[in-house]
Amino acid sequence: MSTLIPALSNPTAKPALRFGDQSLTYAELADVAGALAAELTPGRRVAVWATPTMETCVALVAALLAGAPLVPVNPKTGERELAHIVGDSEPGLVLAEPDAQLPDALAALPRTGIDTAPPSTMLPLPAEGDEEAPALIVYTSGTTGPPKGTVLPRRALATTLDALRDAWQWTEDDVLVHGLPLFHVHGLILGILGPLRRGGTVRHLGRFSTDGVRRALEGDGTMLFGVPTMYHRIAEEVGTDGRLAKALAGARLLVSGSAALPVHDHERIAAATGQRIVERYGMTETLMNTSVRADGERRPGTVGLPLDGVELRIVDEDGRPVKAWDGETVGEIQVRGRNLFTEYLNRPDATAEAFDGGWFRTGDIATRDPDGYVRIVGRKATDIIKSGGYKIGAGEIENVLLEHPDVAEAAVTGESDDDLGERIVAWIVPGARTPGEQELADHVARQLSPHKRPRVVRFRESLPRNDMGKLMKRELR
Ligand code: ATP
Ligand code: MG
Repeated sequence: MSTLIPALSNPTAKPALRFGDQSLTYAELADVAGALAAELTPGRRVAVWATPTMETCVALVAALLAGAPLVPVNPKTGERELAHIVGDSEPGLVLAEPDAQLPDALAALPRTGIDTAPPSTMLPLPAEGDEEAPALIVYTSGTTGPPKGTVLPRRALATTLDALRDAWQWTEDDVLVHGLPLFHVHGLILGILGPLRRGGTVRHLGRFSTDGVRRALEGDGTMLFGVPTMYHRIAEEVGTDGRLAKALAGARLLVSGSAALPVHDHERIAAATGQRIVERYGMTETLMNTSVRADGERRPGTVGLPLDGVELRIVDEDGRPVKAWDGETVGEIQVRGRNLFTEYLNRPDATAEAFDGGWFRTGDIATRDPDGYVRIVGRKATDIIKSGGYKIGAGEIENVLLEHPDVAEAAVTGESDDDLGERIVAWIVPGARTPGEQELADHVARQLSPHKRPRVVRFRESLPRNDMGKLMKRELR
């Protein structure tokens, strides 16, 4: 396989990466990352203190060039989790901004500062190694259990990014507006490596803000990648902020992923801007599995069709493929393809358990519409409530609760119940006014069916979420 970033071999003065006033052209990136790559050893793991900065991007490119597996570390990781990640991945070196204060677990390792100033002597770029060798080790978000180190080969990165190129008509003319952290697949692989592989440009906001998004799209930004909490903020403001609406209306593509995008937010943004957000579905282990295509129908509440090269099936509780595409029959999504990871680091047990004869068990429950569009109902571990003989998906109820004018945030879980097996519990962050419990239950029963109404409503000031805005239902329950 050829190189992951072809534009580095024929470097030009085109901007590759921009962070505020800082920018690197492809020629400069080739020099800077090439110099850092010369300090790395093929096969020797390196941790990067993954702040949302130019330095982190340079470390990513250098590690890929050198064939040194990169372990991105979330700078907000707590001590115990950090000790686990460092002990598990055993990096031989840590890369960080020269003045970063590192916690003990990382400070104990040999350290190299990341220099983003072009060096005076240029080195030839090293040849990238075997496409099956580990390129990145990314820890999962820890939504359903402790984070697992996911070993991703270059082959998987190239496969997923090329499938997205086709699905999103992604070209070198695209300028990606990026406000996500750089220690997960979404921000790092799709958001940084994606544009670099296309020969396009990344414009990173440092930190997400609706103003930052507006300014970047008023400038040369063409695409926006976001998580649902970002689009929620946009949905809250776009109805009354004409400039924001105009900027979003002019974008080529707005993409959401990492968690389900509430239908209510999709519709509010569409009403104010005429833009329908494209939703895609993926995970650390499989990279991207499905997406709505740029030229396809953008149906709210769905994550589109399997990407090129991804085989997807839905299986029932006995592991038998579900044939019906009726938008009703649910089962677990399993996938197969060259987009998949190699293994969980140091976890042969978990790796073996994750596969069903070559198919990866995603743990996500879904149905398919008659034309094949995939609708994710929720996660097997936390979102399927067995109540009164029914299997009920939390997401559908959450979507309806969010349509209520006095609900700002909503989460639905199951709780054991003597009569029903499990009863439906709604966790609500109220809006300007606190709605009545009965009022909410009636609202759900009217829109869905009586057995889907919450039996218990609990009001909270906020809901537990991780850095990607994902609901941590483990903590709620
Ligand atoms: P862990 O595996 O440690 O419990 P995690 O599964 O949250 O954490 P990630 O790999 O970051 O870690 O997230 C993948 C999961 O995110 C998917 O399995 C799915 O549940 C969810 N997800 C991603 N995109 C979407 C989407 N568009 N709609 C609904 N869910 C999504
Ligand atoms: Mg997972």
